[in-house]
Amino acid sequence: MRILVLNSGSSSIKFKLFSMQDSKVLASGLIEQIGEEQGRASLKGGAGVKLEREGKIADHGDGLSLMLAMLSEAALINRLDELDGIGHRVVHGGEAFHEPTVIDADVMAAIEKLSPLAPLHNPANLAGIRVVVEKDPELPQVAVFDTAFHQSIPKYAYLYALPYQLYEQEHVRRYGFHGTSHHYVAKAAAAYLEKSSESLNMITLHLGNGASACAIRAGESVDTSMGLTPLEGLIMGTRSGDIDPAILFYLAREKGISIDGLDALLNKQSGLKGICGSNDMREITDRAQEGDERSLLALEMVSHRLKKYIGAYTAVLGRVDVIVFTGGIGENAASLREESCAGLEEGLGIEIDPEKNRMRKSGVFTISTESSRVKVLVVPTDEELEIALQTVMAISAAHR
Ligand code: ADP
Repeated sequence: MRILVLNSGSSSIKFKLFSMQDSKVLASGLIEQIGEEQGRASLKGGAGVKLEREGKIADHGDGLSLMLAMLSEAALINRLDELDGIGHRVVHGGEAFHEPTVIDADVMAAIEKLSPLAPLHNPANLAGIRVVVEKDPELPQVAVFDTAFHQSIPKYAYLYALPYQLYEQEHVRRYGFHGTSHHYVAKAAAAYLEKSSESLNMITLHLGNGASACAIRAGESVDTSMGLTPLEGLIMGTRSGDIDPAILFYLAREKGISIDGLDALLNKQSGLKGICGSNDMREITDRAQEGDERSLLALEMVSHRLKKYIGAYTAVLGRVDVIVFTGGIGENAASLREESCAGLEEGLGIEIDPEKNRMRKSGVFTISTESSRVKVLVVPTDEELEIALQTVMAISAAHR
């Protein structure tokens, strides 16, 4: 069974082709700078196959044609109908979608209707879906939503204390994101510990360029740090995470910064970049080791914020069995993992073993001590594989 996973952005399409019998990646690639003067495309396949293309890529349709031509050149597939299905990452599923959903005209209309909640992402995701419908209307396509896993969060946790009509009429509430990743690492952690997901309470920390924390009770998300948009919560590469919202009124009044200016300030110029000038954790860690004060400060701020969420979600869950670190930073930045759990030994029973934490291993590994009440794990995330798995599930459920 062959499943293609597509993650379409406004000017790019990431793709991964899986053989589902053994969950093996047959090829992965990226189509970039769609619509610009000079587009680029690359594909990596097994046995050292590497293809690269340059030239104008007019739109998503062109991009997908180019991807197919490259997959054919790599002797993987020649036509879309050789696939068993396509799984699309769709960022915002609002309250309409709780699970992976086979795409039809109604689902496409619903994704479009949700676009005001994710104006950069949903229209791009939809463009990818539409192009496939045009090329091969019979091919099963599944939408896997970043928000879906968090639909189990109870109302008292997802509502903001704003006038209730804003929820009813404008759909203002916490939705949460990175759901596919939180779900995947929670299942992988349970499998590694040889326990059922239902028997475990977990805090999962997805730390990449975007970062979010999730409280998971018996396999279900019960709270998460991102909100209506992916801006809330942890300190991220270029996003501020939690701030006092009144800072915005203050800056607008005192400095005359426009709404768009404030949007760019909080989403693109803040976070690690705003504090120390870089959003690359490797660079920041290196600079901190050389004694750069702002880099040290940025790291302290990030681990302080993480610690606050670990504490808050411990209280939400009542009992925590497992903490999972994942994402480019969570999987690699050992000192940040140690700092964010430092001081939680006695109160919360979270004890990191410095040696285990600093050992680089592939796959899932434990970084807590034998005596730690809470198991702390590093679990590499694989959102594309999770999308492929959910795509297979949704297609077979639809055939039942
Ligand atoms: P995205 O959210 O874009 O998928 P990733 O999950 O790839 O991002 O995470 C990107 C972050 O991971 C960057 O800050 C990068 O510096 C950091 N990172 C990647 N490798 C390492 C490493 N070996 N050590 C520390 N940080 C790393």
